[in-house]
Amino acid sequence: MTHGETEVRVGGARETGEPVLQLHEVSKVYPGASPVVALDKASFTVHRGELVAIVGPSGSGKSTLLQVMGSLDRPTSGTVRIVGDDIAEMSDRALAGLRAGRIGFVFQQFFLARHATALENVADGMLYSGARHSERLKAAAEALGRVGLGHRADHRPPELSGGERQRVAIARALAGNPAIVLADEPTGNLDSVNGAAVFQLLKELNAEGTTIVVITHDRELAAQMPRRIEVLDGHVVTDVSSAGEAPTTERHLP
Ligand code: ADP
Ligand code: MG
Repeated sequence: MTHGETEVRVGGARETGEPVLQLHEVSKVYPGASPVVALDKASFTVHRGELVAIVGPSGSGKSTLLQVMGSLDRPTSGTVRIVGDDIAEMSDRALAGLRAGRIGFVFQQFFLARHATALENVADGMLYSGARHSERLKAAAEALGRVGLGHRADHRPPELSGGERQRVAIARALAGNPAIVLADEPTGNLDSVNGAAVFQLLKELNAEGTTIVVITHDRELAAQMPRRIEVLDGHVVTDVSSAGEAPTTERHLP
């Protein structure tokens, strides 16, 4: 264990689970006439049961970080381990299976099918899980219940508010019981009231045991999260934990 990991674990019992996501000196360079170093040796570990905000201004590398954390893209260098497996050693097919089974994604744009009901949207999120249609519908109904939308199961996205649409997307991410949920700017298309409600929901889901990483440029929302990882120009610049009355631990990296 590195010095840094010891420090961030001071925060409390939340971080005592096994590692779900481990990044070690992860860099990502987008090639081109003028290559962009979007991530520069980012390292951190997310343990089971944690709720982590990744915060930073536009262009700081947050979405790139989510792509590599979620195995949607491979890093240029460095190591990414998801539930212990090094993604560099996995085929694209194996990664697709890992994503379908172990990771739930939530995006700013919701990505719901507009002609499908909320229930169908959530159930379709498990299409590649191998579960039978009836099992998927049952899990989808449960997940909609968890996000407080059991009464909207038959509604289609155009009949739902923005906040409700994002809750459907969160239900879809949860339905397959993933090891980790990764959310990229889930409040980016919402007003402040609905944005705050989505963060409250993420906190409740975490209290029930779901491991969540949420990306945001909103420092106010991030401040409510028990651990904040701040990204600037592709660098992890701070990694701060606070749990209840426990003292805040702050780590500044060069
Ligand atoms: P954020 O999500 O924090 O706004 P991004 O990860 O989207 O940041 O982008 C980080 C940097 O990488 C930015 O300078 C952006 O322009 C660049 N970038 C992102 N995606 C690509 C890409 N596919 N090709 C080239 N450059 C990219
Ligand atoms: Mg982004």
